[in-house]
Amino acid sequence: MARIFCKYHPDVPARWICRACQIPFCSRCIPQAGEGPPACPVCHQAVESLGAGNVIEPFWQRLPAIFAWPLQRIPLLFMLALSGLGLLVAFLLGDSLFGWLLGNVVLYAVFLKYAYVVLENTAQGHLDPEPITWNTIAEELELPFKQLFILFLIGAINNSLYRTGGGGLMLAGMFLTALLLPASIMVLAIERRLLAAINPIILIDVMRRIGMPYLLLWLFLFLLISGLNETSAYLYHYLPVAFAMPLDGLLGNYVTLVVFQLLGYTLYQYHEALGFPVTAEETAPAASAAAEAADEPLREVEILFHEGRLEEARARLQALIEQAPGNMACRERLHRLLLNQQDIPGLRQHSAEYVSRLLLHGKPSEALRVFTEAYRVDREFKFGDAKQRHRMAELLANNGQDRAALALLNNLHRDFPQYAGVPDAYRLVARLLSEKFNQDERARQVLDFIEQRYPDYPHLDEVRAYRQVIEQVAAQGK
Ligand SMILES: [Zn+2]
Ligand SMILES: [Zn+2]
Repeated sequence: MARIFCKYHPDVPARWICRACQIPFCSRCIPQAGEGPPACPVCHQAVESLGAGNVIEPFWQRLPAIFAWPLQRIPLLFMLALSGLGLLVAFLLGDSLFGWLLGNVVLYAVFLKYAYVVLENTAQGHLDPEPITWNTIAEELELPFKQLFILFLIGAINNSLYRTGGGGLMLAGMFLTALLLPASIMVLAIERRLLAAINPIILIDVMRRIGMPYLLLWLFLFLLISGLNETSAYLYHYLPVAFAMPLDGLLGNYVTLVVFQLLGYTLYQYHEALGFPVTAEETAPAASAAAEAADEPLREVEILFHEGRLEEARARLQALIEQAPGNMACRERLHRLLLNQQDIPGLRQHSAEYVSRLLLHGKPSEALRVFTEAYRVDREFKFGDAKQRHRMAELLANNGQDRAALALLNNLHRDFPQYAGVPDAYRLVARLLSEKFNQDERARQVLDFIEQRYPDYPHLDEVRAYRQVIEQVAAQGK
């Protein structure tokens, strides 16, 4: 009965398992698309369902929540209101037959109908109390009477067993009927048919599908109901009947809600095994749906990456980027993969385009980071057009990455003869050479080059002035 957890999200229960790869996946890793089990991202064979029971917290770990359930506002107020009504009826109508029918049968049927609604909502995976409306109670009010009839039938069977075979036979009968009762309540809730709820073949099938935990469920219900009987005996022993009766009624209702919640939850937990459709399909914990949906295509890539299938991961990423060129998460992932593989041609092609896009999207610091990472692997790494390189060189220089800035602007005028910003860029080169690398001679050559090559450059005055400064500094140095 131990739960299996996702290989890639160790805190999330697994929904699927690939027997070929021996990998359990959660529903975040492989979202279900359409009918039938989805394909394993690693080997592309169909995965096997681990059952919703693996994802849903088992009922035996949820007992505190199940005990606390009837004490929440809506069910608690409803139970108190019914008790109040019961007292009122007893006070006004006394011992009349009408009073007895109203107080004991009608109010109890109303309560039992509510218990069935609780069971159904819980079985659908809605674990919080839902508001009670008139329809909640009035629709299908025959359901509780079917239940009362089943209880009456059980009593009659055991009674006739006692009369034919005595106490021993009756005890055996009680044991058997008690064992079948939880299954019977669940079947009545699903099928709504009295004949189905007393059909031993159907009931045994339900028990078989739930398996050993059914015995646990039964044992728990047995202890709960014995406890209730003991308590009610104490109440009547120590309190006057006027107090004991309403308290006993309230306690009985509380236990009924606990039992029906538990049975509903068991249906929810085993809905797949029981072939019973559920509206609120298991919600994997810690999955914020919106954030998860954004990087959905990347999950498969992550899994391939974890499994060391780097070529497949890369092909998948390239296909994703082709489909959606603006998907920066995919571009980032591919960049990381190329860095990891030290793939210089890949970096020059893909990461270069990525840096350009980041600059276009107004993300200079991201662009700077990606460039720097690629530059560390590949000293010749260049990207984009002249304007982008120029911009990046400025960013690098501002960030103290002078060598990278110089490398990026190297031969800019040959790569982009038409670029009007070359003299500006080369002034930056001259400044870096002189101030950061003490290469005054080379700086002077660059400044001379600007003067000769770009006679119409509007800032030639400044170029000349800077050249003089360099010469003066050099003369002082001698
Ligand atoms: Zn997962
Ligand atoms: Zn597989």
